[in-house]
Amino acid sequence: MVGVLGCMAERLKHQLLEEEKIVDLVAGPDAYRDLPNLVRQVDDGSRAINTFLSREETYADISPVRLNSNGITAFISIMRGCDNMCSFCVVPFTRGRERSRDPHSILTEAKDLFEKGYREVTLLGQNVDSYKWSPNADLKGKAQIEKARETDIVNFAMLLEMVAQVHPELRIRFSTSHPKDITDDVLFTMKKYDNICKNIHLPAQSGNSRVLELMNRTYSREWYIDRVDAIRRILGDECGITTDMIAGFCTETEDEHKDTLSLMDYVRYDFAFMFYYSERPGTPAAKKL
Ligand code: SF4
Repeated sequence: MVGVLGCMAERLKHQLLEEEKIVDLVAGPDAYRDLPNLVRQVDDGSRAINTFLSREETYADISPVRLNSNGITAFISIMRGCDNMCSFCVVPFTRGRERSRDPHSILTEAKDLFEKGYREVTLLGQNVDSYKWSPNADLKGKAQIEKARETDIVNFAMLLEMVAQVHPELRIRFSTSHPKDITDDVLFTMKKYDNICKNIHLPAQSGNSRVLELMNRTYSREWYIDRVDAIRRILGDECGITTDMIAGFCTETEDEHKDTLSLMDYVRYDFAFMFYYSERPGTPAAKKL
């Protein structure tokens, strides 16, 4: 029995199941609870598919079994999906709307990992800075959370503090930050706790405001530089900054590309994932740009 799971499965379901007929089972990123049922369907002789994208599923109550782990570092998923619509990105279509996980289940997982000997956790989300959770929202989607009372909301800075307090010997990292959402509160929380590693992955994608607008990144070059300045002001030069860059996005000129280079000179990144633009089918950039 061959199954494909996750967001690529969601994107390639038609090709995998019908055209190439190479798999028996396809489960999208929000359908893992349905796996026993899907496996049964394949046992009964049919192909099985569930790529339904949920507005609520966070798998909060399921603790991952960590195979092939080094026993020291682990990832903890704190949210799923993404509500941004960067024009080049396929994630909103394959992983669904943004949902934040109950902070208590995150803390339970972090404490459990510490007790098992792990000493470093990375809090994971497509856009960790927009983490928001409220006990009073019926649904865990962002629109519902926005309606909750301010005092009921747990935001990312608060979550970071809660995880940092699990144990001073547990090192905390997080990824990925979005330049439009990273707040000074998050930076002050990093400063306050020695066990929060001073490193921020802050994808720029481009150093030119016109290209950023085409990418629908919702910030300008100036905004990005303001956030970098805030990191330097609050955390000092010892805070590592890493990034993602795309070269040659639709209609980008040579001069606009040079703005990306000058941004790199300005920030002096510790590391960067750098790619030439490659089109993802179905995205706004592929359709319109
Ligand atoms: Fe969301 Fe990141 Fe994709 Fe933008 S690039 S839509 S923030 S996952």
